[in-house]
Amino acid sequence: MPADLPPLREVIARHGLSASKSLGQNFLLDEQLLDRIAAIPGDLSDKAVLEIGPGPGGLTRALLRAGARVTAIEMDRRCLPALAELGEAFPGRLRVVEGDALKLDHAELMGGEPFAVLSNLPYNVGTALFVRWLGGERWPPLWTSLTLMFQQEVAQRIVAAPGGSAYGRLAVLAQWRAQAKLAMKVHRSAFTPPPKVMSAVVHITPAAMPGGVSARTLERVSEAAFGQRRKMLRQSLKAIPGALDALEQVGIEPTRRAETLAIGEFVALARCLNA
Ligand code: SAM
Repeated sequence: MPADLPPLREVIARHGLSASKSLGQNFLLDEQLLDRIAAIPGDLSDKAVLEIGPGPGGLTRALLRAGARVTAIEMDRRCLPALAELGEAFPGRLRVVEGDALKLDHAELMGGEPFAVLSNLPYNVGTALFVRWLGGERWPPLWTSLTLMFQQEVAQRIVAAPGGSAYGRLAVLAQWRAQAKLAMKVHRSAFTPPPKVMSAVVHITPAAMPGGVSARTLERVSEAAFGQRRKMLRQSLKAIPGALDALEQVGIEPTRRAETLAIGEFVALARCLNA
C-alpha cells in the first residue's frame, strides 16, 4: 500500500460518509480482514476485477494492494471523491463507474475481458445480482469467480447440501454448473455500523455445464419444486407440462419432496424435459 494512504476512518470522517441505511451501508474498516477477503480468489496481480459497491473503498484498497486492475460500480455519489483519491494513489489501476449495478451490463463494462467479482453488498442487491450472474444460457460466463459477502443465513443456503431446510433454489442455482464454498465467516462487529446478523463470504467458480439442459428449464423446475417445498413432487411439478412423465422416466418417486433431490436429479429431470 502506498505509505501515504490515510486510515479508512479518517477518509469516512473527512468525506462525511455517514452510513446510509437505505443504501445498505455497513463498512468494513479492518485492513487485515479486507486483505484476507481480497486473497480468497487467489493471485489477482494484473487481473481485471469488478467490485460492486466500493463505498469508502476499504475492499477496493485491498484489491489494489493485491495488484488487481479494478472497475468499481458505486451508486452513492458521496463516495466518489474518496474513491478518486484512492485512484490517485494507484495511478491507472482504478476506474470508478457511478451507477446502479443492477442496471449495468457487466460484461460490456469490462470490455469483454474475463474478470473476478468481489463485493460486499446489501442483501437484496446481492441476491438479485447473484441470480443474474448464475443464471442464463451463456456458460462459462465471462466472470472467473464470485467472492461475495452475504448474511450468513443466505451464504448457508447457497452452499447447502440436499436434505435440510437451507437447501433450495439458491443451492441448485449455485451448484448445478459451479462450485460454491463458504470461504469465511465474518462477525457482525467487523462492520461499521454493525448489522443485526452475522455475515459470511461465499466463493463461487464456474464448472462444466451438464449437456442437454437449458438453464431456463432447470430454473423452472427448481422454482416450481421449491415453490411448494412441503408438497410431493407430483403436486408441485403438476403445472409443468411433461414433468410427471419425466419423473417416471428418470426414476424419481413422485411422492418425494424437493429438498430430498440431489442437484444431479434436478439436472436429469430438466434434461428429460428438454429432450
Ligand atoms: N465495500 C464497502 C465495504 O466493504 O466497506 C462498502 C460496503 S456497503 C455494505 C455496500 C455498498 O454498496 C455501499 O457503498 C452502497 O452505496 C453500495 N450499493 C448499494 N446498492 C448498490 C447498487 N445497486 N449498485 C452499486 N452500488 C450499490
